[in-house]
Amino acid sequence: MEKIEAVLKEERVFYPSEAFRQKARINQLQEYETLYKESLEQPEAFWGRVAGELHWFQPWQKVLEWNPPNAKWFIGGKLNLSYNCLDRHLETRGNKAAILFEGEPGDSRILTYQQLHREVCKFANVLKSLGVQKGDRVTIYLPMIPEAAIAMLACVRIGAVHSVVFGGFSASALADRINDAQAKVLITADGGYRRGGVVPLKANSDEALADTKSIQHVVVVKRTGQEVPMQAGRDHWYHELMADASAVCPAEPMDAEDPLFILYTSGSTGKPKGVLHTTGGYSVYTYLTTRYIFDLQENDTYFCTADVGWITGHSYVVYGLLQNGATTLMYEGAPNFPNEGRIWSIIEKYRVNILYTAPTAIRAFMKWGEEWPRKYNLESLRLLGSVGEPINPEAWLWYYRVIGQERCPIVDTWWQTETGGIMITTLPGVHPMKPGHAGKPFFGVKPEIVDSSGQAVTNPDEGGHLIIERPWPSMLRTVWGDPERFERQYFSQYPGRYFTGDGAKRDADGYYMILGRVDDVLNVSGHRLGTMEIESALVAHPAVAEAAVVGRPDPIKGEGIVAFVTLKSGHNPSPELAQELKAHVVKMIGAIARPDEIRITDALPKTRSGKIMRRLLRQVAAGEEIKGDTSTLEDRAVVERLKASSPH
Ligand code: ATP
Ligand code: MG
Repeated sequence: MEKIEAVLKEERVFYPSEAFRQKARINQLQEYETLYKESLEQPEAFWGRVAGELHWFQPWQKVLEWNPPNAKWFIGGKLNLSYNCLDRHLETRGNKAAILFEGEPGDSRILTYQQLHREVCKFANVLKSLGVQKGDRVTIYLPMIPEAAIAMLACVRIGAVHSVVFGGFSASALADRINDAQAKVLITADGGYRRGGVVPLKANSDEALADTKSIQHVVVVKRTGQEVPMQAGRDHWYHELMADASAVCPAEPMDAEDPLFILYTSGSTGKPKGVLHTTGGYSVYTYLTTRYIFDLQENDTYFCTADVGWITGHSYVVYGLLQNGATTLMYEGAPNFPNEGRIWSIIEKYRVNILYTAPTAIRAFMKWGEEWPRKYNLESLRLLGSVGEPINPEAWLWYYRVIGQERCPIVDTWWQTETGGIMITTLPGVHPMKPGHAGKPFFGVKPEIVDSSGQAVTNPDEGGHLIIERPWPSMLRTVWGDPERFERQYFSQYPGRYFTGDGAKRDADGYYMILGRVDDVLNVSGHRLGTMEIESALVAHPAVAEAAVVGRPDPIKGEGIVAFVTLKSGHNPSPELAQELKAHVVKMIGAIARPDEIRITDALPKTRSGKIMRRLLRQVAAGEEIKGDTSTLEDRAVVERLKASSPH
């Protein structure tokens, strides 16, 4: 009962090239199978060995203690993530680039491991001088500049718990997050560059601080140089504090289960949750996933386009990369400034080897046209990654062909803020790729697909709820300040098992395909359909750039299907096109998935992390008022325009 039906047939399979496979860290399927088996059957041995590659001030006594829903990893162990990101490399990689920075206006900076270590130690001393102690919360509200990574690492170094708030958030979203975490210090900038304009971060901070009481000090990085008011006693310039700070600051030995950071989820399905990660498990898991999934080689240049305000920016811009001694590239600005070639020009300029981005960006690149990437030399690229939403097969193929030039494997990585690291993906040197399928579980991860009663769905390609059977090192430990919500949200539906909130199916080869959020599943004449497959069928039509499908109450069918679509440039909305799109879905999937209504619009409502917010579209489709948390919505005007869009 209550399974999700899987409808779209997509059967193309792609293999990593022999050249890639030859050099890959893991390139034998047998090796993956053996390690995977060991990681489940002997987690102590497996994770103990991985953890042993990092530096510990004191070894752990026990790898895991699991009293659902509470997990403890590396019990009794003491370590520091900043030490593992920096100090550990000074001897062998001191002069290697840790961070390559490209500012939106075109300025650039390089920080070697030794320079980054020095900046972090100094800023850690600054935080101490402002009274920050182990366990205190520090909110970071900065642009994508090296100081964001420096601030994060400095907090971690002294055991303060950071809460990074994306620089695109408004004053009120910032105030909510400061209040929720009861942060003592706020680190911000005068402003940040975005699409040729300046984001007024200090002004937003001042507005937020009018509604918060916990902040005692504000540190302001001078980035744009614009005039900003500074409140005496409360506000301090970063460069002034740094000028006198000592560069000696030993890393604080932290208990493996000491809180590391709080990060709020994207808010796609409701009010954002303040996810808490702890030190040991998060460090070990992000270290290992980065190494194998991105197949990191010593001289690689790695570029992830995510902002540090998202979990991807934490795990796969900063911590996973630096723990591996890699070179990570940070880009401050918009992908279309000064023009639509910016990302490709950065790849050419720095000879980037690994690119990690999101489907929303890929669909925008497609919309802008292949002529942009074609202008640049992308031959340095070896591996591509995707994260954030299901990648529609059409977008996957474009990414593979135009950006990867059919040479680069793609890792479609499924994970969540809560999981801390990548959970399901192919390993690039081992697994054939199936567009639309994320792939296989990573080491230590045991996913299952269940129906709503918790029974495993065993038939291949039958959809259900995606759960994770066992604890993994970087799983969230709680929702900050709300242990009850932690249990209710993740462990009550299937007691003792982690519920992801996503629907998925598994094929005969054990590959997982994410079908969309279970909150968004449609119920059409008794058939339960995920959103992803119908959207993928729409996106496969040459006129369509993006699609979002939602249900609307229907007296006969239970739910009718309403599809919101945006068009590629050169295509115009018309009743004929709407009819054609309906017929196209019927052809690709079947009559069951025929949209009752197509709404052609110029933009879809998205979270600031770039995910489609279907819950708002559901309300628009039903002609209801917009309710629920919209604090993470990117552009409120989109909702008004959607309401005005004419149905076909
Ligand atoms: P909230 O939990 O507040 O509703 P959110 O779930 O969007 O927001 P994130 O933690 O940023 O917050 O996103 C995790 C979700 O993103 C996953 O549950 C999944 O739905 C989606 N996702 C991430 N990567 C992939 C992927 N490779 N394929 C399919 N879906 C993905
Ligand atoms: Mg979520």
